[in-house]
Amino acid sequence: DPKLILGETHNSEYAGLPVGFNGTRRANATLLMLARNNELEKAKQSVRDLEEKFNRQFGYPWLFLNNVPFDQQFKEEISALVSGPVTFALIPPQHWYQPDWIDEEKASESRDAMVEQDIIYAGSVSYRNMCRFNSGFFYRHPLLQQYKWYWRVEPDVHFHCVVDEDPFLYMEEHNKVYGFTITLLEFEKTIPTLWPAVKAFAEENPQYVAPDNAMGYLSEDGGDTYNLCHFWSNFEIANMDFWRGEAYTEFFEYLDAKGGFYYERWGDAPVHSIAAALFLRKDQIHFFDEIGYEHHPFTHCPHTPGTIKKKKCTCRGWRSFDYQAYSCMRKWERIFK
Ligand code: GDP
Ligand code: MN
Repeated sequence: DPKLILGETHNSEYAGLPVGFNGTRRANATLLMLARNNELEKAKQSVRDLEEKFNRQFGYPWLFLNNVPFDQQFKEEISALVSGPVTFALIPPQHWYQPDWIDEEKASESRDAMVEQDIIYAGSVSYRNMCRFNSGFFYRHPLLQQYKWYWRVEPDVHFHCVVDEDPFLYMEEHNKVYGFTITLLEFEKTIPTLWPAVKAFAEENPQYVAPDNAMGYLSEDGGDTYNLCHFWSNFEIANMDFWRGEAYTEFFEYLDAKGGFYYERWGDAPVHSIAAALFLRKDQIHFFDEIGYEHHPFTHCPHTPGTIKKKKCTCRGWRSFDYQAYSCMRKWERIFK
């Protein structure tokens, strides 16, 4: 039903305000959450936190997407928490489900083999649909066409510090394209052939590889092998023009045609991260140190001296993930030395 794809908007009296509640200029941006009906309590946790720490001062719109229609309770309880307009919409089915040209026999054998190896979400088709949707489709949703910027929010995350400077405007004013808070290592068994595909794409399309890119963060040997570092995409603040542009569009089509979203379990995190690191200049990627953020089991707490106090953070600096063994923060920092 096309009406469900265009969604249902609540609090629309606040839509389209040119300035935030605090009177500042606003970016062309939305807060974006993909969620399931049974994640209502977890979604409310994230919305409550982000509204309290950020959005009640700014009034940015929220957009909730789902592969099945949101139920009445979900819409009502979320609407009661938000300060700006909120829309609940359906994902077009062709953006979500496993395509016909995927060999289901091969895909199911590979799922079974991954289950044997105890890989997280190994047996899940819906998780694979989600990863492919987040990699190549969310920014094509009709309701996202009006926006340039999005802040991806997941159910059950925590925001630990006051966000009183608009991160979208920061990105815009400093020519940033992709923003993150946590960087870490991927499970190699979920992406065994991803890097060979990336290398083949880059060799065939050298025009897309940016000078002064962040390859030094992805690889220890100039690109021969992948060190598994990526930005944790459950938090993203980014410019969708990048995903909609020629380089990423060609890249996604190329990867999708390999079938690795279903024959392996390619995540949107390494796919987005590798694209950003190769097709952008490294200075177009931004680390938001001052945004304290938690998605189980990891927390980023600001490490710039004075920030925890200044931004009234509820996290503890010494527990921050950034310099723990599994983090890639040092690899991110080394490319700026
Ligand atoms: P994890 O963070 O990788 O452990 O995975 P999550 O379970 O948090 O899923 C990532 C995101 O995709 C969250 O925003 C989920 O709400 C969403 N998600 C995952 N699977 C589905 C699904 O089948 N349908 C919908 N609508 N959302 C999903
Ligand atoms: Mn999650």
